[in-house]
Amino acid sequence: MSCADPVWEFTNEIEYSEILSSIATADNVFVKLPVQIPLSNLASLQLEDQIEVKTNRDTSITFSIRDISNFNNGDRGWNAANNLEEGLQTISMTAGREHFLATVITAENSFWVIANKLTDQDDYIGWIYSHSRQTPPPLNTHLIEEDSRDFFSGANILALEEPTLKVSYTTENSDGRFVLPGDETVWTISIENKFDQEKKSLSLDIGGKWGEDLEFPDTSLWTDFPENCRDASSEPYKKPYTITCEISQIEAKSTLEFTMKSQIRKPAYVGPIGFLTIILWDSEARKSYFADTNLFTPIYIDQDYLIDTDLDGVTDFNEKFLKTDPNDKNSALEREAQIDIAVLYTSNYKSEFKIAPETLINSEINFTNEIFTGSRTGVRFNIVHSGLLDYENNCTASRCRTNQTWNDTQTVLDEFGRKDKGRWRESEKIRALYGADLVIILDGATGGDETQGMAVSGGNMRGLVLPQYRTVFVHQSPNYEPYNDWKKTTLTHELGHLFSLQHSRRQDNSNGSFAWATGHGEDDNFATMMAYFDVFNATRINRFSDPSRSDCGYITLKRPCGVDRSDPLNGADAVGAIKATRFQIEQFSPRRPILSTKSSDGKIHATKFLAGAVKDIELGFKTKFSPYDTITASGTINLAPDHVGKVGTTHIIVDAGPLGVFQINRQGQFVALDMAAPVLVGSISPRPLRGIEDLPVLNDFIAGPLGVTEARLNLYFGYTLIDLDLLVYSADPLTIQIGE
Ligand SMILES: [Zn+2]
Repeated sequence: MSCADPVWEFTNEIEYSEILSSIATADNVFVKLPVQIPLSNLASLQLEDQIEVKTNRDTSITFSIRDISNFNNGDRGWNAANNLEEGLQTISMTAGREHFLATVITAENSFWVIANKLTDQDDYIGWIYSHSRQTPPPLNTHLIEEDSRDFFSGANILALEEPTLKVSYTTENSDGRFVLPGDETVWTISIENKFDQEKKSLSLDIGGKWGEDLEFPDTSLWTDFPENCRDASSEPYKKPYTITCEISQIEAKSTLEFTMKSQIRKPAYVGPIGFLTIILWDSEARKSYFADTNLFTPIYIDQDYLIDTDLDGVTDFNEKFLKTDPNDKNSALEREAQIDIAVLYTSNYKSEFKIAPETLINSEINFTNEIFTGSRTGVRFNIVHSGLLDYENNCTASRCRTNQTWNDTQTVLDEFGRKDKGRWRESEKIRALYGADLVIILDGATGGDETQGMAVSGGNMRGLVLPQYRTVFVHQSPNYEPYNDWKKTTLTHELGHLFSLQHSRRQDNSNGSFAWATGHGEDDNFATMMAYFDVFNATRINRFSDPSRSDCGYITLKRPCGVDRSDPLNGADAVGAIKATRFQIEQFSPRRPILSTKSSDGKIHATKFLAGAVKDIELGFKTKFSPYDTITASGTINLAPDHVGKVGTTHIIVDAGPLGVFQINRQGQFVALDMAAPVLVGSISPRPLRGIEDLPVLNDFIAGPLGVTEARLNLYFGYTLIDLDLLVYSADPLTIQIGE
């Protein structure tokens, strides 16, 4: 037996009845026991320390601590996993200033712990509980950006009556879907005559530019077409870039087929080829027929993102970001990708849980990190910002009702998840300002929504992920909802989609290169994170598919967790796919610069100052701006844990050189600071300081209209702890240089 310390002990319900009754556990709870959690035990835990976790009065699980996290607001997190005779068991614990939250997952059950901190001592008192499990299937899905268009909604498409003329097209590339620079795309155009008589004098218009959306002519050029076709761009009544083919006749009940070839316009373009419009004009019948839109048109890539020259498991494309040698297998860095996330939560999320949102969000991400690190993906999520999202339900679709209290997944994602659409600018500005790679929107219970989570992802892009594919939305509730009782994995699942992952071969019917970026399952046994467990009549295991390990399974243990990617039909290697995309996502948005810390007592305090300035909503921090650039600048203080909760005020000093030195007062005004006898006024009224203090300085500032064409601003940040008479400040400034 190990000498593992118990993380919690069962406690006396009567002694703590007041605090226990104030804690909202979920509805439909069938095991509920009062626990006492001493913070001192947790705080002293080191990596690989053994802990005992009691799930009821006579059952406990021993874990070895695998992972310890320090969150920016001072919260701490611990993760551990076991994979013995019972199958995978995991624990994820988060301790905040007010709450302790934990999730224990076993093959049969999931336990939650919610506890509140006692005011007079360093212990938490709360409940461990488990839901009675029901098993309706979860509904979660991912949205592939290019699928969401309705280009032809206004057009009068096919004649309803039979017979008809049917126009269609298909494409073929070296690997089915992806086109590399220099590759030609071969298009097969078919016209089927379903009439009993021949058709004469047909005219086919192919590939014109119709509107604002991404269309074939935006990305591609025709390089080869049959002799009966011509470039009709300059002809009257033709759309630009139209190729017109004259078809003298098609026999009754027959199909005419011909091929055309196209190439990319700009070798640097990556992304979908765009919509191709094809219209057949029957001049005798004076009738036109549109080809059905083919959603599975090719995608241009500018290189093969899956090439791994030195076979070190890190693709050449990723080695570029790591600045390692793609030809030297010893050069790859064995480091995790740190994916920075901005977590925005709705008011529904806040009211759903009686738990401080910051700690609740930390616990969500800690749980997600357990799955990503436990799956050996080499990915860790790091919260760089969390904040309330200013959103009220505005769903007008027929699936929504007036005055509904729940938010609709698709509507929220249309609002904040689609590049340059809806309120994209608002969430993108937050992303830019805090240096977040991805945006997570957390919402309350599903209500009438059939979708529990969704990601706006690019789908299978053969290892390429574009920066606009950055948003996931997830409904969360402490109450019984099938998806969160089933190991509350929706958030992790949706994040998986942002790494290009699909569900499973059985579900998505995917083929071609990178189709192995998918989940895996075994009937009546287990399903990995991406696979729908109900499709396999199985229990979800909190790991991504991975053919290199054989410790999956709940009924039959020690089963392979995936299938090698060389298997064209069954390959399932989600971990390999995450590894192939992670460093791209990591560099979507660079980290916010850190300013060095100093203090009036000359001692070292564990306070961190971060600050950055951005141009409009562009990702990436800048120090040089033109007088007509829109500048937003802000700083954030992550306070030393022993300073959190002490009464103080924050400071923002702006040294504008010849223009003078200013400080921002609590009304947000710039007031002169007399450097001969400086008196710091504070940018907030004195109050207990938080673990994270955000200090906005400039918001959409444009210097030019104020007559300033040349300036250098040095921004300093700090705070005073009033009772200690201690000033902690950034020793070096955030510099903003404005000039032509
Ligand atoms: Zn999904």
